[in-house]
This record gives sequence, structure tokens and C-alpha cells, in this order.
Amino acid sequence: MSNDNINACLILRHESPECIMKNKLESIAVYCGSATGANPQYTKDAIALAKIFLAHKITLVNGGGSIGLMGVMADTMMQGGGKAIGVIPTNLKEKEVAHLGMTQLMVTKDMHSRKLAMVNMSDAFIALPGGFGTMDEVFETLTWAQLHLHQKPIIMYNPNGYYDALLKQADHMVQEGFLYGPTRSLLMATDDLTQLLPMLNHFKPPTAEKWLNHKKDN
Ligand code: AMP
Repeated sequence: MSNDNINACLILRHESPECIMKNKLESIAVYCGSATGANPQYTKDAIALAKIFLAHKITLVNGGGSIGLMGVMADTMMQGGGKAIGVIPTNLKEKEVAHLGMTQLMVTKDMHSRKLAMVNMSDAFIALPGGFGTMDEVFETLTWAQLHLHQKPIIMYNPNGYYDALLKQADHMVQEGFLYGPTRSLLMATDDLTQLLPMLNHFKPPTAEKWLNHKKDN
């Protein structure tokens, strides 16, 4: 384990056109619960996703805790000889029991630097079931995409309809005129674990440069 203290820069790394166009995912951030949830299936799914990453030689980027689905994925990656990088804010190192067996554990000065580092280090984002922390990470990443600060794909794994209500809410936001249709398409979802990578790979960022002016289109 190497323990790099980092202060993530305050702006998102500028993406080169090659980086945006490359159709190969080398590292993926997985946002997920610091709990394992009520259904043992969530743990099985986290293990299965880590095995998919191992098979595709994808580096896991996560919150660096040893607890919950986060820890399950990190353990599976390390047991399978893969690469897993944890990014944890200094104040959560004890609370979330920092995972000391990951390929690399980065310690950030605060939560914001953690999220920024995770976004900069990853080619795409997957949300497994989780709670408020997972939602915070997903929505921050989505709003950065909405602002065109990055163009990386984001997908929710939605087993047993776990995120149905949230996805329905997103549709409702569009219907009620608070969310622009092309922006809604930034949030992909599937209940099929095997479709996560293909959907991320086929993602085309919406070409809606005028989103800030969409009121003018009405
Ligand atoms: P949860 O989904 O609530 O179990 O949290 C999952 C992860 O989200 C944990 O590793 C938290 O550290 C992280 N997280 C990210 N942003 C926040 C935030 N603003 N408040 C609390 N937790 C957060």
C-alpha cells in the first residue's frame, strides 16, 4: 500500500479529445453503499462486478473504505490480482475503516477533494445500491457532466428495481420542465450486470451545447 496525501486540484482535469473519444475503459469509479444492504444479493452483485472488472483488466476506483459493498469489491479485486485504488478523506479514515490492502490508498484533505480525485482518475462511473453518500456522489458527478465539466458516462445498476423511484423522479423532472431531456439521458440504468460495461462503452455524450439556453427553445 502506498499512502499518498493529495490535495486534489480545484478544477476538473481538462479532457483531451483523444481521452473523450477513446472507447476503452481503463478505470471505473464505483459509488456504492458503506453498508451491504438488506439482501445478500447486493454483496453477490458487488463480487460479480469486481470479477467483470478483473476479466477486463479494469482498475477499480472507490471510496477506500473496508466496509459495505465498497469493501466487498475491493477485497474481490485484490484477491483476484487486480488493481484497486481507494480515495478517502482524512476524517473518514477511521469511520469507514480505511482499506489497507488496496493497490493504492489516497488520502484527501476533505470530501470535495475525494470526489474530484475520483472523477479525474476514472473513465466512467457505476453506482451500485447505496444510501445518501452514494446519491451525493452520483448527483455531483451528474451535475458536473450537466455543466460539461466532463463527458464521462454514468450508469446505475438497478437490481430488483432498487432505483426505480429515483429514475421515475428524473422522468418527472423532465415532464415538469426542471430537467432538460438530453441532460436526463446522462443517467443511464440497467438491471443487468453484464450490460454495465457495454452501455458505458456505447455512451455518446449529448451534443446539447445550448442546454443553458434551453428555455429559448420552448
Ligand atoms: P452511503 O451510500 O451513505 O453508504 O455512502 C457511501 C459513500 O459515500 C461513503 O463512502 C461516504 O463516505 C460517501 N460520501 C460521499 N459524499 C458524501 C457526503 N456528502 N456525505 C456523506 N457521505 C458521502
